[in-house]
Amino acid sequence: MSAQAAVLITGASTGIGAVYADRFAARGHDLVLVARDQARMEELAARLRERDGVSVDILRADLASRADLAQVESRLVEDTRIGVLVNNAGASSPGTFVEQGPEAVGGIVDLNVTALARLAAAVGPRFAREGRGAIVNIGSVVGLAPEFGMSVYGATKAFVLYLSQALHLELGPKGVYVQAVLPGATRTEIWARAGKDVNALPAVMEAGDLVDAALVGYDRRETVTIPPLPDAQQWADFDAARFAMFANFGQSQPAQRYREAREAV
Ligand code: NAP
Repeated sequence: MSAQAAVLITGASTGIGAVYADRFAARGHDLVLVARDQARMEELAARLRERDGVSVDILRADLASRADLAQVESRLVEDTRIGVLVNNAGASSPGTFVEQGPEAVGGIVDLNVTALARLAAAVGPRFAREGRGAIVNIGSVVGLAPEFGMSVYGATKAFVLYLSQALHLELGPKGVYVQAVLPGATRTEIWARAGKDVNALPAVMEAGDLVDAALVGYDRRETVTIPPLPDAQQWADFDAARFAMFANFGQSQPAQRYREAREAV
């Protein structure tokens, strides 16, 4: 068993989550891997145990199932070796919002929103009590851009960004680090699972490069890490524009443009 905090990673059977497992194991952290595909996690776990001498546990769970999710929540509450939660599992679905329909839309929200928020809610109080710990939430640049045409998926990722920023404000002063990672298009199975050809995209990042950059942001204790964004000032300007509105939100009267319209009726 490592002296460092153990890391629980959701969606660790492949893609970005499997790379997080690889990188945290290389740093000497014990791991708890969570996903549905037991065989893939066994294979990864065997490789990392052998290579890095870390302990790797596997928790098979469908995070869209409340019963399975409850088991992962309990593990986060009870296993005080776990000091880092990587909330990575996420999915989209083929088609537009209208084509997807209520089942698929609900499934995306169950995984990308409900599971992510419940796992953070399960572990957050313990981390706050202990005055340490880290929660890494994997969002997406799609959460900033409805124009990409991935309606409910993008909306769930906007939720991930908001929740991360809010938890940073709430838990940061208690010693808990919260990071939102916003990847752009990254070469993983998520594209094929959503019925899209990753090779048709104009630019795609390799998952290893994405996670290595995200971990630079992690080590710097960034709240929001956007690995593909060349100019960090653009994010700072965007955030500053949001801040500039705050002073104007508290008003006793609607804005003049709405009053004018009502007075004209
Ligand atoms: P991926 O290759 O499809 O991997 C998704 C992981 O989540 C897999 O380990 C999968 O494992 C797990 N998962 C899916 N549904 C699950 C469920 N119901 N219960 C438990 N685990 C489940 O996708 P990825 O690209 O690595 O995605 C990782 C995160 O990055 C996601 O949150 C995604 O939204 C985000 N992201 C990806 C990109 C991109 O271009 N790749 C861009 C921006 C953001 P099992 O199938 O074994 O359960």
